[in-house]
Amino acid sequence: MSTVLDKLKKAEECVWINDNLKPAAEALATIEFNSDFVADAAARLERFAPLIMHYFPETCETKGIIESPLTEINNMKAILNEEGAGLEGRLFLKRDSDLKVAGSVKARGGVYEVLKHSEDLALEAGLISGYDDDYLKLGTEDARKFFSQYKIQVGSTGNLGMSIGIMSAALGYDAIVHMSMDAKQWKKDLLRSRGATVIEYDGDYGKAVEQGRAESDADPKSYFVDDENSSALFLGYAVAAGRMDKQFKEQGVIVDEDHPLFVYIPCGVGGAPGGVAFGEKLLYGDNVHVFFVEPTQCPCMVVGLATGKMNDICVQDIGLTGITEADGLAVGRPSGLVSRFMDVLLSGEFTVEDAKLNPYLRKLWKSEGLYIEPSSCATFIAPSTVSTDESCKEYIAAHGLTDKMSNATHIVWATGGSMVPQEIREALLNG
Ligand SMILES: *Cc1c(COP(=O)(O)O)cnc(C)c1O
Repeated sequence: MSTVLDKLKKAEECVWINDNLKPAAEALATIEFNSDFVADAAARLERFAPLIMHYFPETCETKGIIESPLTEINNMKAILNEEGAGLEGRLFLKRDSDLKVAGSVKARGGVYEVLKHSEDLALEAGLISGYDDDYLKLGTEDARKFFSQYKIQVGSTGNLGMSIGIMSAALGYDAIVHMSMDAKQWKKDLLRSRGATVIEYDGDYGKAVEQGRAESDADPKSYFVDDENSSALFLGYAVAAGRMDKQFKEQGVIVDEDHPLFVYIPCGVGGAPGGVAFGEKLLYGDNVHVFFVEPTQCPCMVVGLATGKMNDICVQDIGLTGITEADGLAVGRPSGLVSRFMDVLLSGEFTVEDAKLNPYLRKLWKSEGLYIEPSSCATFIAPSTVSTDESCKEYIAAHGLTDKMSNATHIVWATGGSMVPQEIREALLNG
Protein backbone atom coordinates (compact mmCIF):
# COMPACT_ATOMS: atom_id res chain seq x y z
CA MET A 1 0.00 0.00 0.00
CA SER A 2 2.75 2.42 0.93
CA THR A 3 4.37 2.00 -2.48
CA VAL A 4 1.08 2.95 -4.15
CA LEU A 5 0.82 6.02 -1.94
CA ASP A 6 4.40 6.95 -2.89
CA LYS A 7 3.52 6.71 -6.56
CA LEU A 8 0.35 8.73 -6.03
CA LYS A 9 2.36 11.45 -4.29
CA LYS A 10 4.82 11.56 -7.18
CA ALA A 11 1.95 11.71 -9.67
CA GLU A 12 3.17 8.49 -11.27
CA GLU A 13 0.71 6.20 -13.00
CA CYS A 14 -0.18 3.28 -10.78
CA VAL A 15 -2.63 0.52 -10.02
CA TRP A 16 -4.17 0.19 -6.60
CA ILE A 17 -5.87 -3.03 -5.57
CA ASN A 18 -8.41 -2.68 -2.79
CA ASP A 19 -7.54 -4.98 0.12
CA ASN A 20 -10.83 -4.07 1.79
CA LEU A 21 -12.96 -5.53 -1.01
CA LYS A 22 -15.52 -7.85 0.56
CA PRO A 23 -17.64 -10.61 -0.94
CA ALA A 24 -20.54 -8.82 -2.62
CA ALA A 25 -23.27 -10.12 -0.32
CA GLU A 26 -21.35 -9.07 2.76
CA ALA A 27 -20.43 -5.68 1.28
CA LEU A 28 -23.96 -4.89 0.09
CA ALA A 29 -25.36 -5.72 3.53
CA THR A 30 -23.37 -2.78 4.97
CA ILE A 31 -24.97 -0.29 2.57
CA GLU A 32 -28.22 1.49 3.40
CA PHE A 33 -29.59 1.13 -0.15
CA ASN A 34 -30.69 -2.07 -1.86
CA SER A 35 -32.28 -3.19 -5.12
CA ASP A 36 -35.69 -1.81 -4.04
CA PHE A 37 -34.22 1.69 -4.07
CA VAL A 38 -32.87 1.20 -7.57
CA ALA A 39 -36.19 -0.25 -8.78
CA ASP A 40 -37.96 2.79 -7.28
CA ALA A 41 -35.64 5.12 -9.20
CA ALA A 42 -36.17 3.18 -12.44
CA ALA A 43 -39.96 3.37 -11.96
CA ARG A 44 -39.77 7.13 -11.38
CA LEU A 45 -37.90 7.58 -14.66
CA GLU A 46 -40.63 5.54 -16.40
CA ARG A 47 -43.33 7.81 -14.94
CA PHE A 48 -41.56 10.86 -16.27
CA ALA A 49 -40.93 9.41 -19.74
CA PRO A 50 -43.90 11.20 -21.39
CA LEU A 51 -42.74 14.54 -19.96
CA ILE A 52 -39.16 13.89 -21.10
CA MET A 53 -40.44 13.24 -24.63
CA HIS A 54 -42.48 16.44 -24.45
CA TYR A 55 -39.46 18.62 -23.65
CA PHE A 56 -36.81 16.55 -25.44
CA PRO A 57 -38.31 15.09 -28.62
CA GLU A 58 -34.94 13.52 -29.42
CA THR A 59 -35.83 10.94 -26.74
CA CYS A 60 -39.00 9.78 -28.56
CA GLU A 61 -37.03 7.03 -30.28
CA THR A 62 -36.41 5.42 -26.88
CA LYS A 63 -39.89 6.34 -25.55
CA GLY A 64 -38.63 9.01 -23.19
CA ILE A 65 -36.05 6.75 -21.57
CA ILE A 66 -32.59 8.32 -21.69
CA GLU A 67 -30.28 5.42 -22.47
CA SER A 68 -27.05 4.88 -24.39
CA PRO A 69 -25.77 2.25 -26.81
CA LEU A 70 -23.37 -0.51 -25.85
CA THR A 71 -20.89 -0.95 -28.70
CA GLU A 72 -18.24 -3.65 -29.15
CA ILE A 73 -14.97 -1.98 -30.14
CA ASN A 74 -12.87 -4.66 -31.80
CA ASN A 75 -10.75 -2.25 -33.82
CA MET A 76 -9.78 -0.37 -30.68
CA LYS A 77 -9.04 -3.67 -28.96
CA ALA A 78 -6.73 -4.57 -31.84
CA ILE A 79 -4.89 -1.25 -31.48
CA LEU A 80 -4.45 -1.71 -27.73
CA ASN A 81 -3.17 -5.23 -28.34
CA GLU A 82 -0.74 -4.04 -31.02
CA GLU A 83 0.62 -1.77 -28.31
CA GLY A 84 1.13 -4.77 -26.02
CA ALA A 85 -2.06 -4.79 -23.95
CA GLY A 86 -2.54 -8.56 -24.28
CA LEU A 87 -6.26 -8.08 -23.66
CA GLU A 88 -8.39 -11.21 -23.91
CA GLY A 89 -12.16 -11.47 -24.15
CA ARG A 90 -14.58 -8.86 -25.52
CA LEU A 91 -14.17 -5.10 -25.23
CA PHE A 92 -17.21 -2.81 -25.25
CA LEU A 93 -17.76 0.92 -24.94
CA LYS A 94 -20.80 1.94 -22.86
CA ARG A 95 -21.58 5.15 -24.64
CA ASP A 96 -22.99 7.48 -21.99
CA SER A 97 -21.08 10.03 -24.05
CA ASP A 98 -24.16 9.88 -26.31
CA LEU A 99 -26.87 10.11 -23.68
CA LYS A 100 -29.55 12.50 -24.85
CA VAL A 101 -30.43 15.74 -23.01
CA ALA A 102 -27.00 16.31 -21.41
CA GLY A 103 -24.41 14.37 -23.44
CA SER A 104 -22.76 12.76 -20.45
CA VAL A 105 -23.25 10.22 -17.67
CA LYS A 106 -24.77 13.13 -15.70
CA ALA A 107 -27.90 12.69 -17.81
CA ARG A 108 -28.56 9.75 -15.49
CA GLY A 109 -28.08 11.07 -11.95
CA GLY A 110 -28.56 14.79 -12.61
CA VAL A 111 -31.75 14.44 -14.59
CA TYR A 112 -33.07 11.94 -12.08
CA GLU A 113 -32.53 14.23 -9.10
CA VAL A 114 -34.31 17.16 -10.79
CA LEU A 115 -37.26 14.91 -11.63
CA LYS A 116 -37.41 13.47 -8.12
CA HIS A 117 -37.46 16.94 -6.58
CA SER A 118 -40.11 18.07 -9.08
CA GLU A 119 -42.29 15.08 -8.29
CA ASP A 120 -42.04 15.86 -4.57
CA LEU A 121 -43.00 19.52 -5.12
CA ALA A 122 -45.80 18.67 -7.55
CA LEU A 123 -47.37 16.03 -5.29
CA GLU A 124 -47.24 18.37 -2.33
CA ALA A 125 -48.88 21.20 -4.30
CA GLY A 126 -51.46 18.86 -5.86
CA LEU A 127 -50.32 19.41 -9.46
CA ILE A 128 -50.51 15.67 -9.80
CA SER A 129 -52.62 13.48 -7.55
CA GLY A 130 -50.32 10.45 -7.34
CA TYR A 131 -47.82 8.25 -9.13
CA ASP A 132 -50.46 7.04 -11.59
CA ASP A 133 -51.51 10.55 -12.68
CA ASP A 134 -50.65 12.00 -16.11
CA TYR A 135 -47.15 13.46 -15.77
CA LEU A 136 -47.67 15.57 -18.88
CA LYS A 137 -49.57 17.87 -16.51
CA LEU A 138 -46.11 18.94 -15.34
CA GLY A 139 -45.38 20.36 -18.78
CA THR A 140 -48.24 22.87 -18.95
CA GLU A 141 -47.85 26.65 -18.72
CA ASP A 142 -49.35 26.56 -15.22
CA ALA A 143 -46.82 23.97 -14.11
CA ARG A 144 -43.97 26.01 -15.56
CA LYS A 145 -45.24 29.04 -13.66
CA PHE A 146 -45.35 26.94 -10.51
CA PHE A 147 -41.79 25.65 -10.93
CA SER A 148 -40.52 29.14 -11.80
CA GLN A 149 -41.05 30.20 -8.18
CA TYR A 150 -38.31 27.74 -7.21
CA LYS A 151 -34.57 27.66 -7.68
CA ILE A 152 -32.36 24.69 -8.29
CA GLN A 153 -28.64 25.23 -7.69
CA VAL A 154 -25.55 23.11 -8.15
CA GLY A 155 -21.75 23.39 -8.03
CA SER A 156 -19.99 21.74 -10.94
CA THR A 157 -16.86 21.29 -13.04
CA GLY A 158 -19.15 21.30 -16.09
CA ASN A 159 -21.18 18.24 -16.93
CA LEU A 160 -23.25 17.99 -13.77
CA GLY A 161 -24.09 21.66 -14.20
CA MET A 162 -25.16 20.98 -17.76
CA SER A 163 -27.52 18.17 -16.82
CA ILE A 164 -29.05 19.98 -13.83
CA GLY A 165 -29.17 23.32 -15.64
CA ILE A 166 -30.68 21.99 -18.87
CA MET A 167 -33.28 19.84 -17.13
CA SER A 168 -34.35 22.38 -14.53
CA ALA A 169 -34.48 25.28 -17.00
CA ALA A 170 -36.62 23.11 -19.32
CA LEU A 171 -39.14 22.49 -16.53
CA GLY A 172 -39.31 26.22 -15.76
CA TYR A 173 -37.12 26.51 -12.67
CA ASP A 174 -34.73 29.33 -11.96
CA ALA A 175 -31.56 27.25 -12.56
CA ILE A 176 -28.27 28.49 -11.11
CA VAL A 177 -25.01 26.69 -11.81
CA HIS A 178 -21.86 27.53 -9.83
CA MET A 179 -18.93 26.65 -12.07
CA SER A 180 -15.34 25.99 -11.02
CA MET A 181 -12.40 27.43 -12.94
CA ASP A 182 -11.87 24.07 -14.68
CA ALA A 183 -15.21 24.34 -16.43
CA LYS A 184 -14.90 24.73 -20.19
CA GLN A 185 -16.19 27.94 -21.75
CA TRP A 186 -18.44 26.11 -24.21
CA LYS A 187 -20.25 24.40 -21.32
CA LYS A 188 -20.97 27.78 -19.72
CA ASP A 189 -22.12 29.22 -23.05
CA LEU A 190 -24.41 26.29 -23.74
CA LEU A 191 -25.99 26.54 -20.30
CA ARG A 192 -26.67 30.24 -20.68
CA SER A 193 -28.25 29.61 -24.07
CA ARG A 194 -30.69 27.22 -22.38
CA GLY A 195 -31.73 29.84 -19.86
CA ALA A 196 -29.63 28.85 -16.85
CA THR A 197 -27.65 31.36 -14.79
CA VAL A 198 -23.95 30.55 -14.62
CA ILE A 199 -21.82 31.94 -11.80
CA GLU A 200 -18.08 31.59 -12.31
CA TYR A 201 -15.43 31.12 -9.63
CA ASP A 202 -11.64 31.50 -9.63
CA GLY A 203 -11.34 28.53 -7.32
CA ASP A 204 -11.74 24.81 -7.78
CA TYR A 205 -14.79 22.59 -7.62
CA GLY A 206 -14.82 22.53 -3.81
CA LYS A 207 -15.15 26.31 -3.77
CA ALA A 208 -18.00 26.32 -6.31
CA VAL A 209 -19.89 23.74 -4.28
CA GLU A 210 -19.34 25.60 -1.03
CA GLN A 211 -20.62 28.90 -2.46
CA GLY A 212 -23.56 27.28 -4.21
CA ARG A 213 -24.59 25.48 -1.07
CA ALA A 214 -24.36 28.64 1.06
CA GLU A 215 -26.48 30.67 -1.38
CA SER A 216 -29.04 27.94 -1.70
CA ASP A 217 -29.30 27.31 2.04
CA ALA A 218 -30.07 30.98 2.60
CA ASP A 219 -33.15 30.74 0.34
CA PRO A 220 -36.10 28.55 1.42
CA LYS A 221 -37.32 28.25 -2.17
CA SER A 222 -33.99 26.96 -3.39
CA TYR A 223 -32.94 23.32 -3.70
CA PHE A 224 -29.27 22.41 -3.76
CA VAL A 225 -28.04 19.35 -5.65
CA ASP A 226 -25.31 18.07 -3.35
CA ASP A 227 -22.86 16.15 -5.53
CA GLU A 228 -20.80 15.19 -2.48
CA ASN A 229 -23.61 13.50 -0.57
CA SER A 230 -26.69 13.06 -2.74
CA SER A 231 -28.46 9.73 -2.53
CA ALA A 232 -30.81 10.76 -5.39
CA LEU A 233 -27.89 11.27 -7.76
CA PHE A 234 -26.39 7.97 -6.65
CA LEU A 235 -29.59 6.01 -7.26
CA GLY A 236 -30.18 7.70 -10.62
CA TYR A 237 -26.78 6.43 -11.75
CA ALA A 238 -27.41 2.96 -10.31
CA VAL A 239 -30.32 2.41 -12.74
CA ALA A 240 -27.73 2.02 -15.52
CA ALA A 241 -26.82 -1.55 -14.59
CA GLY A 242 -30.24 -3.10 -15.16
CA ARG A 243 -30.55 -1.32 -18.49
CA MET A 244 -27.14 -2.61 -19.58
CA ASP A 245 -28.10 -6.12 -18.53
CA LYS A 246 -30.82 -6.03 -21.21
CA GLN A 247 -28.22 -4.97 -23.76
CA PHE A 248 -25.99 -7.85 -22.65
CA LYS A 249 -28.80 -10.30 -23.32
CA GLU A 250 -29.39 -8.80 -26.79
CA GLN A 251 -25.69 -9.04 -27.61
CA GLY A 252 -25.07 -12.49 -26.17
CA VAL A 253 -22.89 -11.39 -23.29
CA ILE A 254 -22.85 -13.81 -20.38
CA VAL A 255 -21.81 -12.88 -16.87
CA ASP A 256 -21.31 -15.76 -14.46
CA GLU A 257 -18.59 -17.60 -12.53
CA ASP A 258 -16.88 -18.64 -15.74
CA HIS A 259 -17.49 -15.36 -17.57
CA PRO A 260 -16.18 -12.47 -15.47
CA LEU A 261 -17.20 -8.88 -16.13
CA PHE A 262 -14.69 -6.04 -15.74
CA VAL A 263 -16.06 -2.50 -15.65
CA TYR A 264 -13.80 0.57 -15.83
CA ILE A 265 -15.22 4.01 -15.03
CA PRO A 266 -13.58 7.43 -14.70
CA CYS A 267 -14.07 8.98 -11.28
CA GLY A 268 -14.44 12.58 -10.15
CA VAL A 269 -16.22 13.04 -6.83
CA GLY A 270 -17.42 9.44 -7.10
CA GLY A 271 -21.19 9.77 -7.50
CA ALA A 272 -21.51 8.59 -11.09
CA PRO A 273 -19.01 5.73 -11.02
CA GLY A 274 -20.09 4.80 -7.49
CA GLY A 275 -23.77 4.59 -8.43
CA VAL A 276 -22.99 2.56 -11.53
CA ALA A 277 -20.71 0.25 -9.52
CA PHE A 278 -23.39 -0.26 -6.89
CA GLY A 279 -25.96 -1.21 -9.55
CA GLU A 280 -23.51 -3.63 -11.17
CA LYS A 281 -22.69 -5.29 -7.84
CA LEU A 282 -26.39 -5.71 -7.02
CA LEU A 283 -26.88 -7.54 -10.32
CA TYR A 284 -23.71 -9.56 -10.76
CA GLY A 285 -22.26 -9.83 -7.26
CA ASP A 286 -18.79 -11.35 -7.17
CA ASN A 287 -18.75 -11.91 -10.93
CA VAL A 288 -18.27 -8.21 -11.65
CA HIS A 289 -15.02 -6.40 -10.94
CA VAL A 290 -15.32 -2.63 -10.93
CA PHE A 291 -12.28 -0.38 -11.23
CA PHE A 292 -12.19 3.42 -11.24
CA VAL A 293 -9.76 5.55 -13.20
CA GLU A 294 -8.46 8.96 -12.10
CA PRO A 295 -5.87 11.48 -13.37
CA THR A 296 -2.42 11.29 -11.73
CA GLN A 297 -2.75 14.90 -10.50
CA CYS A 298 -6.28 14.45 -9.15
CA PRO A 299 -6.83 10.92 -7.84
CA CYS A 300 -9.09 11.92 -4.93
CA MET A 301 -11.01 8.66 -4.51
CA VAL A 302 -7.97 6.40 -4.44
CA VAL A 303 -6.22 8.77 -2.03
CA GLY A 304 -9.26 8.64 0.25
CA LEU A 305 -9.58 4.86 0.03
CA ALA A 306 -5.88 3.93 0.17
CA THR A 307 -5.28 6.09 3.25
CA GLY A 308 -8.62 5.17 4.83
CA LYS A 309 -9.24 8.88 5.35
CA MET A 310 -12.08 9.05 2.82
CA ASN A 311 -13.33 12.65 2.49
CA ASP A 312 -11.05 13.82 5.31
CA ILE A 313 -8.17 14.01 2.83
CA CYS A 314 -7.77 15.85 -0.46
CA VAL A 315 -5.20 15.53 -3.24
CA GLN A 316 -3.48 18.78 -2.22
CA ASP A 317 -2.77 17.17 1.16
CA ILE A 318 -0.37 14.76 -0.57
CA GLY A 319 1.26 17.49 -2.63
CA LEU A 320 -0.68 17.19 -5.89
CA THR A 321 -2.07 20.13 -7.86
CA GLY A 322 -5.54 18.77 -8.57
CA ILE A 323 -5.19 20.28 -12.02
CA THR A 324 -6.06 18.13 -15.03
CA GLU A 325 -7.24 18.41 -18.62
CA ALA A 326 -9.91 15.89 -17.66
CA ASP A 327 -12.31 18.59 -16.47
CA GLY A 328 -14.97 16.05 -15.46
CA LEU A 329 -12.52 14.45 -13.06
CA ALA A 330 -11.07 17.65 -11.57
CA VAL A 331 -12.33 17.04 -8.05
CA GLY A 332 -9.82 17.13 -5.19
CA ARG A 333 -11.85 15.49 -2.45
CA PRO A 334 -14.05 12.40 -2.79
CA SER A 335 -17.66 12.03 -1.75
CA GLY A 336 -17.91 10.80 1.83
CA LEU A 337 -21.00 8.76 1.04
CA VAL A 338 -19.52 7.07 -2.00
CA SER A 339 -16.05 6.42 -0.59
CA ARG A 340 -17.63 4.55 2.30
CA PHE A 341 -19.52 2.30 -0.14
CA MET A 342 -16.57 1.84 -2.47
CA ASP A 343 -14.33 0.82 0.43
CA VAL A 344 -16.00 -2.60 0.36
CA LEU A 345 -17.29 -2.83 -3.26
CA LEU A 346 -14.50 -1.50 -5.45
CA SER A 347 -11.84 -3.85 -6.85
CA GLY A 348 -9.27 -1.14 -7.38
CA GLU A 349 -8.15 1.90 -9.32
CA PHE A 350 -5.87 2.95 -12.14
CA THR A 351 -4.36 6.40 -12.46
CA VAL A 352 -3.48 7.92 -15.82
CA GLU A 353 -1.35 10.81 -17.04
CA ASP A 354 -3.05 13.65 -18.88
CA ALA A 355 -0.63 13.11 -21.77
CA LYS A 356 -2.42 9.86 -22.66
CA LEU A 357 -5.92 11.34 -22.95
CA ASN A 358 -5.67 12.88 -26.39
CA PRO A 359 -3.87 9.91 -27.97
CA TYR A 360 -6.68 7.63 -26.73
CA LEU A 361 -9.25 10.09 -28.04
CA ARG A 362 -7.69 10.02 -31.51
CA LYS A 363 -7.24 6.25 -31.58
CA LEU A 364 -10.89 5.68 -30.72
CA TRP A 365 -11.98 8.15 -33.37
CA LYS A 366 -9.70 6.66 -36.01
CA SER A 367 -10.48 3.03 -35.25
CA GLU A 368 -14.18 3.19 -34.42
CA GLY A 369 -15.43 6.59 -35.57
CA LEU A 370 -16.56 7.32 -32.02
CA TYR A 371 -15.87 10.65 -30.35
CA ILE A 372 -15.66 10.95 -26.57
CA GLU A 373 -14.36 13.81 -24.44
CA PRO A 374 -10.90 13.73 -22.79
CA SER A 375 -12.23 12.89 -19.28
CA SER A 376 -13.85 9.76 -20.70
CA CYS A 377 -10.66 8.73 -22.45
CA ALA A 378 -8.88 8.29 -19.13
CA THR A 379 -10.53 4.88 -18.84
CA PHE A 380 -8.55 3.33 -21.67
CA ILE A 381 -5.55 2.99 -19.37
CA ALA A 382 -7.43 0.08 -17.74
CA PRO A 383 -7.86 -2.31 -20.69
CA SER A 384 -4.37 -1.26 -21.80
CA THR A 385 -2.73 -2.51 -18.64
CA VAL A 386 -5.06 -4.90 -16.81
CA SER A 387 -3.55 -7.99 -18.47
CA THR A 388 0.09 -7.05 -17.95
CA ASP A 389 0.27 -5.15 -14.66
CA GLU A 390 1.66 -7.35 -11.88
CA SER A 391 -0.86 -6.33 -9.22
CA CYS A 392 -3.75 -6.86 -11.64
CA LYS A 393 -2.40 -10.32 -12.45
CA GLU A 394 -2.28 -11.10 -8.73
CA TYR A 395 -5.86 -9.87 -8.34
CA ILE A 396 -7.00 -12.04 -11.25
CA ALA A 397 -5.21 -15.08 -9.83
CA ALA A 398 -6.54 -14.47 -6.33
CA HIS A 399 -10.08 -14.52 -7.73
CA GLY A 400 -9.43 -17.76 -9.63
CA LEU A 401 -9.83 -16.03 -12.99
CA THR A 402 -6.46 -16.58 -14.67
CA ASP A 403 -7.75 -19.27 -17.02
CA LYS A 404 -11.12 -17.56 -17.49
CA MET A 405 -9.92 -14.27 -18.93
CA SER A 406 -10.56 -15.41 -22.51
CA ASN A 407 -14.26 -15.48 -21.49
CA ALA A 408 -14.13 -12.04 -19.90
CA THR A 409 -16.11 -8.98 -20.93
CA HIS A 410 -14.47 -5.58 -20.44
CA ILE A 411 -16.60 -2.44 -20.35
CA VAL A 412 -15.01 0.96 -20.82
CA TRP A 413 -17.53 3.50 -19.54
CA ALA A 414 -17.50 6.53 -21.84
CA THR A 415 -18.87 9.30 -19.67
CA GLY A 416 -19.19 12.28 -21.98
CA GLY A 417 -18.68 13.75 -25.42
CA SER A 418 -21.66 14.19 -27.72
CA MET A 419 -22.20 17.86 -26.86
CA VAL A 420 -18.62 18.97 -27.52
CA PRO A 421 -18.86 21.65 -30.24
CA GLN A 422 -17.42 20.80 -33.65
CA GLU A 423 -14.53 23.28 -33.56
CA ILE A 424 -13.35 21.97 -30.19
CA ARG A 425 -13.60 18.39 -31.42
CA GLU A 426 -11.44 19.26 -34.36
CA ALA A 427 -8.89 21.03 -32.20
CA LEU A 428 -8.65 17.94 -29.97
CA LEU A 429 -8.45 15.55 -32.90
CA ASN A 430 -5.81 17.56 -34.74
CA GLY A 431 -3.95 19.12 -31.81
C1 LIG B 1 -18.81 13.74 -13.83
C2 LIG B 1 -17.99 12.98 -14.76
C3 LIG B 1 -17.30 11.84 -14.37
C4 LIG B 1 -17.23 11.33 -12.96
O1 LIG B 1 -18.38 11.42 -12.19
P1 LIG B 1 -18.31 11.82 -10.64
O2 LIG B 1 -19.68 11.68 -10.14
O3 LIG B 1 -17.81 13.23 -10.56
O4 LIG B 1 -17.33 10.88 -10.03
C5 LIG B 1 -16.57 11.19 -15.33
N1 LIG B 1 -16.52 11.63 -16.61
C6 LIG B 1 -17.18 12.71 -17.02
C7 LIG B 1 -17.09 13.13 -18.45
C8 LIG B 1 -17.93 13.42 -16.11
O5 LIG B 1 -18.58 14.51 -16.51
